[in-house]
Amino acid sequence: MPDGTADPRRRVPRTDALLADPVFAAAAGTLGRDRVKAAIVRAQQRARRGDITPEEVRDAALADLPAPAPRAVLNATGVVLHTNLGRAPLSAAAVEAMVAAAGHTDVELDLRTGRRARRGRDTLDALAAAVPDAAAVHVVNNGAAALVLAATALAADAEIVVSRGELVEIGDGFRLPDLLESTGARLREVGTTNRTTRADYAAAIGPRTGFVLKVHPSNFLVTGFTSAVPVRELATLGVPVVADIGSGLLAPDPLLPDEPDSASTLRAGAALVTASGDKLLGGPQAGLLLGDADLVERLRRHPLARALRADKLTLAALAATLHAPTTPTREALHADPAVLRERAERLRDRLGEDGRKAEVVPCVSVVGGGGAPGVELDSWALSLPERYAEPLRTGEPPVLGRVLHGRLLLDLRCVPAEADGTIRAAVLRVGD
Ligand SMILES: *Cc1c(COP(=O)(O)O)cnc(C)c1O
Repeated sequence: MPDGTADPRRRVPRTDALLADPVFAAAAGTLGRDRVKAAIVRAQQRARRGDITPEEVRDAALADLPAPAPRAVLNATGVVLHTNLGRAPLSAAAVEAMVAAAGHTDVELDLRTGRRARRGRDTLDALAAAVPDAAAVHVVNNGAAALVLAATALAADAEIVVSRGELVEIGDGFRLPDLLESTGARLREVGTTNRTTRADYAAAIGPRTGFVLKVHPSNFLVTGFTSAVPVRELATLGVPVVADIGSGLLAPDPLLPDEPDSASTLRAGAALVTASGDKLLGGPQAGLLLGDADLVERLRRHPLARALRADKLTLAALAATLHAPTTPTREALHADPAVLRERAERLRDRLGEDGRKAEVVPCVSVVGGGGAPGVELDSWALSLPERYAEPLRTGEPPVLGRVLHGRLLLDLRCVPAEADGTIRAAVLRVGD
């Protein structure tokens, strides 16, 4: 018969001791002491039943705590704007601005006069200053909302003339034509999948036309026997041209020569440009509307605008993004491959014994997130056996790579340099 000290149940850690553990103390701060204590008690009970060992109680209780959702992850996929990973990461300045705006804020108040002011005026001023070609600007919840507002306010009982080559699916089953028709606008499709001419548009334009829509097919390429009509020519048709440029570049980026930007599109004659805030602009999820003052005013005044309005956190983050000299997205896009290689080599060297399983290999990153589909960016990755993929993905923090030919590639392009140590620790935890 085993004596008392050998009884494993006596080794179950005490509730007080666990509650004093910094990890549980921190959790009690965010989740409340009762919830944390309940998780500890459940883990202790499992140990007393013999389901787990006393040594496993701490981790079992931790695992039982509600995880923050969504969780922060490290993007080592090499996809700069990964839709499943939240597209653009915010800059430190944008995060700071959001935190500052989280409480009561002057989002709709002029502190000098004490009167109500235009919602998010600082953000709108920053956007207008960033794109002087826009006579007026407006911000809504996301790119799709910008398009819906334009269609509803400018073409609800009218026709939107659009090329068959530009009726794209944005992703996750959402298709632009369905979105536009949900507003009550009728689509007047012109041309064919691969070729549309100015004459096709001209023949379709009439008294029922609300506007001509130009969509940048941001997530696919049509090559070969193709023809599309640039905004400059559409602008001569005598009706407003609304251009959905998608990615939200404010000015041209030489790295992405085929990516349209707001300034150039307006200068080419678009009456209105719609774009996303969380793609190449590198800001929060938002829909940008830029262009003609009368049109923007009609959108702003439309009842639907109230349902699509951006929240104060978005407005704060967007203003900070517009003021900042750069963004994490821009830094990732323009990262120097030689520097990425050095980081990957240092990471491998610092893995010690585990470094033998790792190789440093060249790879290709992409823009992703509905942007620049043909662009390939030279990069460098730490390559590990494929079996590392799952434990790294399910670890804390989750590290997401890309599996290629039986290897897990950790592309460092979108990983902040200060997170290299976190990747090292995560790889070492997987061990053998
Ligand atoms: C991404 C995209 C949209 C949708 O924008 P969201 O901000 O995701 O709503 C619409 N049109 C184009 C061309 C896009 O690239």
